[in-house]
Amino acid sequence: DPAVAASDGDSPLQREDGLRPRRLADYIGQGELKQVLGIAVEATRGRGEALDHVLLYGPPGLGKTTMALVLAEELGVRCRITSAPALERPRDIVGLLVNLQPNELLFIDEIHRLNRVAEELLYPAMEDFRLDLTVGKGTTARTRSLPIAPFTLVGATTRAGALSSPLRDRFGLIQRLEFYGLDDLQAIVQRAAGLLQVALDAEAALEVARRCRGTPRIANRLLRRVRDVAAVGGHGRVSAALVQEALSLHRVDARGLDAHDRRLLTLMLESYGGGPVGLDTLAAGLGEDPATLEAVVEPYLLQQGLLQRTPRGRVLTDAGRAHLAAA
Ligand code: ADP
Repeated sequence: DPAVAASDGDSPLQREDGLRPRRLADYIGQGELKQVLGIAVEATRGRGEALDHVLLYGPPGLGKTTMALVLAEELGVRCRITSAPALERPRDIVGLLVNLQPNELLFIDEIHRLNRVAEELLYPAMEDFRLDLTVGKGTTARTRSLPIAPFTLVGATTRAGALSSPLRDRFGLIQRLEFYGLDDLQAIVQRAAGLLQVALDAEAALEVARRCRGTPRIANRLLRRVRDVAAVGGHGRVSAALVQEALSLHRVDARGLDAHDRRLLTLMLESYGGGPVGLDTLAAGLGEDPATLEAVVEPYLLQQGLLQRTPRGRVLTDAGRAHLAAA
């Protein structure tokens, strides 16, 4: 079934990434997240029950899928991975739910995109481990209840606000993932470099850390590019200078901003005098979907203090202007 990937299988998700930490202790950063989930895991293990349902939200690439896999590993159960767009027909989600073994995890990415029918099937499943199925049509239609194994739903979303409140209310644990600080990113890069067998100076790792938008997925991607440049150039050890050279090709600037980020800031400055300007106007100007702009591009710029959200629209900050002027 292409809609599902088992965590122990040879799925594209697994192949993409031999770099995912597998245990809580290897999961770098996100202290509060690890603390909260660590306690929940330990308590649950003691009781032999399914972990409470978990909702993870935050920008892409910060480790939501990784955390779901880590939780499964810590609990000693399997994690089934899917995403809301793959659950279009009712039978997709029903098939998944009836096949779960006791206490397994079901990870649904982009859970804010679940359709109405799928969402309503999930409510009794999450609450009472029960599926309410309609059998027959018209006047002979009736509802049949089917028990399913106790399980844990791990939902991930970039847009917690887009979740319906009945769905959100059914998660016992709701946790936000934050952009990573430089120290954590440096550690993530060094760990990944070890796994990829790249000899990297601490300074060089820091240089990658500075340029990855606070995001481990981007750090890993940049590290692979650095590895390519090092291999082609026949460099044994990778220095900070080599990282700068390798990444200047990829248009990531010294603050980690990519071409997307800079286009947004430049548009704000050049077409709207720095704002305030509405999200929809900016999205139209960039040819982007406003929801994506808000959930994927903006958060890092906000966190870096380059952009502000005000009631009248987005405003470029002094730091944002200074960054553009320096670039
Ligand atoms: P998301 O599901 O939030 O989009 P992922 O879980 O797919 O993000 O994480 C992206 C990649 O970043 C992972 O494949 C993993 O290698 C790396 N990664 C994420 N979080 C961490 C972490 N805390 N420590 C080390 N590597 C991480």
